[in-house]
Amino acid sequence: MRFLCDEMLVRLARLLRAAGYDTYLAAGGEDDADLIKTARREGRILVTRDKRLAAAADESVLVKGFGVEAEAHSLSRAVVLDWEYAPFTRCVMDNAHLREATAEEVDKLPERVRSMPGPFRICPSCGRAYWPGSHVRRMEARLHELARDAAAIPPQA
Ligand SMILES: [Zn+2]
Repeated sequence: MRFLCDEMLVRLARLLRAAGYDTYLAAGGEDDADLIKTARREGRILVTRDKRLAAAADESVLVKGFGVEAEAHSLSRAVVLDWEYAPFTRCVMDNAHLREATAEEVDKLPERVRSMPGPFRICPSCGRAYWPGSHVRRMEARLHELARDAAAIPPQA
């Protein structure tokens, strides 16, 4: 399952990427027609709060509510997705697949980080490093809660 989030859903797109889902985030000012084309070409579910855009796409989810939690729950109700699908295998900023950091790259990380058990991952696109520090742990806890809440939603008739 792949997603295309409209430009208003930045935080939701990052959450989906943290969960491991391939998520394209629309750049500001991208044309609706182009978004629909991209979603179709790449087999992505278009996620938006825009009724007209949702209706025009082949496959879409109309997100309701405001704030990333409400958006995530709205998405969970519309499609069956696993919020713990492949946590921290993608860069939350640019969607690239993370790779294991090399020994040299780990050496460059701050002392307190190096002393953690790892894994240490690097985004090959932006160079951002990921390690199991407090930020990642908080995000993991959040994904776990979303997965638990999603599991409690009764199946659609
Ligand atoms: Zn990146």
